[in-house]
Amino acid sequence: MGLRVAPQKTEAIFFHDGRRGKPPVAHVRVDDTPVQLGTSMKYLGLRLDGRWSYRDHVDRLVPKLDGMAAALTRLLPNLGGPGDRVRKLYANTVNSVALYGAPAWADEAVATRHIRDAFRRVQRRVAIRVVRGYRTVSHIAASVLAGLPPMELVARAHKRMYEQIKELRGLGVLVTKGTQGAVRLQARRQLAEEWREYLTSIPPTASGTRVVGAVGPVLEEWMDRPRGIKMSFHLTRVLSGHGCFGEYLCKIGKESTKHCHHCEEEDTAQHTLEHCPAWADERRVLTNTIGEDLSLPTVVRQMVGSEDNWKAVSSFCSNIMRQEEAERERERRGRRGRHALTPESRRERRSYLGALARKRSSPRRKTKVGSNPAPRRKTEGKPGPTIVKGDAPLETPDILRDRGRMGGEGYRRVKIGGSRRRIPP
Ligand SMILES: [Zn+2]
Repeated sequence: MGLRVAPQKTEAIFFHDGRRGKPPVAHVRVDDTPVQLGTSMKYLGLRLDGRWSYRDHVDRLVPKLDGMAAALTRLLPNLGGPGDRVRKLYANTVNSVALYGAPAWADEAVATRHIRDAFRRVQRRVAIRVVRGYRTVSHIAASVLAGLPPMELVARAHKRMYEQIKELRGLGVLVTKGTQGAVRLQARRQLAEEWREYLTSIPPTASGTRVVGAVGPVLEEWMDRPRGIKMSFHLTRVLSGHGCFGEYLCKIGKESTKHCHHCEEEDTAQHTLEHCPAWADERRVLTNTIGEDLSLPTVVRQMVGSEDNWKAVSSFCSNIMRQEEAERERERRGRRGRHALTPESRRERRSYLGALARKRSSPRRKTKVGSNPAPRRKTEGKPGPTIVKGDAPLETPDILRDRGRMGGEGYRRVKIGGSRRRIPP
């Protein structure tokens, strides 16, 4: 045959079905060089093992996919960041790496729980990035909201496409781009069907069933929704139930009670959407557009029905969630004390103090410690106070009487370091 091999680079593997236990001990020699018999080997980018299980392949692939998912976490923040199309594009880059050689291992992935679970862990992180969800959102809910079918089902769809095109070529049919498109469309429809079947098999006690019950019946429309409409993170919160709701906050230990802050009911995402009297005005605007029925399956059906409906629901969710979050933040601050700061004022204070520190540490401003320069102003003939600059310890406060500007008889303006205070008489 003329085939030349490098004996020292040669690997060997024993393929077996595992029914008769471990394979026998064997010794392979190529040109008097002993070749080690391994349990797996890399061939054309796939890691093969003796039982064709592809577990080893997936175990080595998952850390790589995890790294990609972690990179997406930094690239796709919940607030701001790229739009839905770009997010889906990023998600598909992870899929394209994961699905390398899918026709070879698709059936094993569908049949093996270990492989399915490994892929789901990665897909959950990616799907959460796509929909701007909390990291506590389950794989089922996140993947349904993101429109990303389970990886093993996508792998099987790839296998079907590959086999159909191979069969057509075997029959002598010229496979054009149009033919490939038709095969792809058919595979996609079958994939949606299989995904829906998988979703109906999920037990009702599993997390994420609320989303599945709502989106499942309109899965294809949800996946193929127009490009202009997007998932905002407030919309994701209302749909997934993971957000500023008593039930969720109580579950994660952030609040002690599930009760709504506006009424006596249990505070859930559905309560906020459908019942809570606090949002009656906002709800009226919504029902004028999408109708009176605010059960989640109907709302989702209306959303995929028209762009205006989608925007009305999204705007309602953003509106009420912003108000609710602001109110809870105020309550939290109230509990922490009157002087607790909002994140914004904390940021402002940090930047102010940073600027002050830079200003004070600049060499031009520094003065000798212990020096006693002349005061800036003198008041009523009294000796002027000491103004301390730079990082020198405070010696004497700069007390200035400034009745006209500081509002009120007898008020003193005290200068301590860089800040000024009003001291009542
Ligand atoms: Zn309420």
